Parts: sequence; structure tokens; C-alpha cells
Amino acid sequence: MENGLISVDRWSDGSQIYFLTHLHSDHTKGLSSQWSKGPLFCSRLTAKLFPFKFPNFNLSLLRVLEIGLWHSISLISPSSGSRKVIKVLAIDAHHCPGAVMLLFRGDFGCLMYTGDFRWEMSSERANKGRIALLNALEDNTVDILYLDNTYCNPSYAFPSREIAARQIVDIIASHPQHDIIIGINSLGKEDLLVHISRMLGLKVWVWPERLQTMHLLGFNDEFTTKTNLTRVRAVPRYSFSIDTLEGLNQMRPTIGIMPSGLPWVVRPHEGDGIHSGSLLTTRYRRSKLNENGRFLIEKQTGKVESVTKLHNYIFSVPYSDHACFSEIQEFIKLVRPTTIKGIVSSSSCYIEPLYYFGRLCGAKQPVNKFHHKKKGTEKVEKNVDIKFVNSKKGTNAGILNAGVRLGRVSALRRVQRGARLPEDDCL
Ligand SMILES: [Zn+2]
Repeated sequence: MENGLISVDRWSDGSQIYFLTHLHSDHTKGLSSQWSKGPLFCSRLTAKLFPFKFPNFNLSLLRVLEIGLWHSISLISPSSGSRKVIKVLAIDAHHCPGAVMLLFRGDFGCLMYTGDFRWEMSSERANKGRIALLNALEDNTVDILYLDNTYCNPSYAFPSREIAARQIVDIIASHPQHDIIIGINSLGKEDLLVHISRMLGLKVWVWPERLQTMHLLGFNDEFTTKTNLTRVRAVPRYSFSIDTLEGLNQMRPTIGIMPSGLPWVVRPHEGDGIHSGSLLTTRYRRSKLNENGRFLIEKQTGKVESVTKLHNYIFSVPYSDHACFSEIQEFIKLVRPTTIKGIVSSSSCYIEPLYYFGRLCGAKQPVNKFHHKKKGTEKVEKNVDIKFVNSKKGTNAGILNAGVRLGRVSALRRVQRGARLPEDDCL
């Protein structure tokens, strides 16, 4: 495909048409209510939520992609002026409301962009997704797979969201006298909150804008903005901190639950008694936690013990909207792309996906794990891994400096996602 035709989750380039996989902020960076560069394609649900995030957006630019249907779009070649037809199919990404993966076909071949996705093996929804994907692929070979590689590392093993949701309900039920706060984003984790509401027979408090989103999504009975109606509150992630929890505990016994694929670690700064929380690195996970009794991986069975109490007031439960390593592997076995390009280059553990999956693709496996694309990216990796594990001073320099307020998602996803298809270094 020649350049200048298509951009996915990227808004800075000059393209003829644009695709949005979902409404999380790291995928909309550069998009605004004033944006007018061209038609924007997204799923029906994203289109419904879109004006809420971008009021006064020129809605005549929005184009809906029905999930599971091929759409043909005519474009004009920037170089020759001739007409080109591309076909695109949206597939449920099982990530957050409205999130889709995109499959493109044309004279350029076949490209797939996962956006953020989860690929659970167990649920009925996952089965449907698998069948839809196989039907969509038919006998075509995906030439380039743009992959959500957030957890592209074998140390990231976590259960299905169904199991993690049960664990969260158990934690809440076993603290009947406590108030509960749960850290969430402005979109996503609705199924978890609805499950909590229904299992425990209570409403969940959300902030006013989030209540509007819940209503748009059709959840009318499970949520409230009245604090006196419930002891369970879902709060924005940025306000979820040890400071907040300690303050709340001055008034009422309160625990915090962080639903996240990557456990946090909390430890005191030497001398000052202040806690900081941060990303748990692979090395730390395998060594330090096993020593002090907060095991995350049972050595004998390799099973993941997923709920971790990180602090008097905080539980981390691996309820993740991104695929874990084994799911990524299953997905790649299904798609069998010719090559893969990770879309999360700022991940704390960024590893070139081909390092693990090159053999599955028939592509050459890189010698180095790490994708040395930008010096800045390397620096982030080193800071996370080395400083956190070895620092005796508790300074947690660099990326870790922000303490417990620096959540996993903000650390991994502060860089804009997206691609202009195809990217120059892919072909
Ligand atoms: Zn996302």
C-alpha cells in the first residue's frame, strides 16, 4: 500500500481516511473536537460514545463499521490519481466498549491491526470471536500483524476476567465492614462493576461523567453518584493512591482494589516511612517477592496466585483488558502472520514480538529481545528494571519517581499509539 491512504489510531499524518480502534486516550492523542482531516471510521458503539468525549465534533465525518461485515472504501492514489478500493473488516477486540481489531485487504495484501485486545480462551464470547476471525481470514495470509504487545513477555500470566472478577467479589465480601474503592479508567471494566453490583446486590458509585457513560452503554440500575447509597466506589485511576487510602482510613475502614494485569509493588522509602508503589518488573517478580512470602508464581506448579495484598489497604487483582502472553501466542498461532510489529513501544518490558513468535510466523527470529527503535524507549526499560530492583536508596528514579500515583497503564501507555499503514520500516 502506498503511503498517504490510511492511518489507524494516528492523527498527525496526512491520510485520506482514518480509523479509530477505541476511545482510550492513548489512541486518540492528537484527535480533537476541531479535527477535520478526513473521514473517521469506528465501530457503532464508539460512534455512540464519541460525541461525549469530543463534543462539537463534526459528526458528518464519522463513518460506522459494522462488526463482522466487510466494507469497501474507494480511495484515490496520491501518486497516480487512479482509483483504489480497500476492504476493511472490524472484529470485536474484547477490550473495552466499542473496541475493534481491523483487517485490511487490497492490492497491497492483507494487514491486521489489533488495537488493544484480549483473547480469552474460555468464554462464549471468545469462541465467537475466534470463529469470526477464522471466517474473516479465510485462506488469506496476514502480511503484517500490528499487535497489542502490552504483555508480550512469558512472565505475564493471568486468569480470565471471569475468574479475576470472582476474586474481586470475594475480597469485597470478606470485608463487610469496609468501604471499597476500585481504580478504573473513563472507559472499560464495566462488566466487572456490573458483576460486583449483581453478585453483592448493591450499587456501585461512579463519578458523574462516568455515570453518563454507563447510561449511554445501557447500564441504568447498577450505578449511582450518591455516596450514601453504597460502600463500593469506582474512582478514576489517577485518584487511586496510598495517600488517598490512608486519608480515607482516618475516617472509615477502607480498602482499595486495583484491577490490573501487571501487579504493583509497594515498599517504604528508607527512613521517611513513605510508601511508593510502582511497576513490578519481571526480575523483581521472580526473586524478591518469592523471598518475602508474597508469592506471585508458585515455583512447583508454575501456577499464578493472582491476588496480592500489597499494602494494608490495597489489593492488586489481575483483571486485565489486554491479552496475556499465552493468549497472544494463541492469537498468533491462529493468524499466522508473515511478520509482526508491536504497537506498544513504551512498554516497561518492550520486547520485539518476533523474538518470541518469529517461528510461528515463519519469519526470522531476531537475536535481540529488545526492539532498539528509540533511545528514549531503551532508557525507560533500563530505569524500570534496574533502578527498581537494585536501588537501595529508595529513590526510584526516572519513571518510577511518580510513586504510587503512577499506575501501570499510564506508565505503559503514555506514548501515542497508532500507525500509518504500512509503516516505512515494515516493508
Ligand atoms: Zn485501550
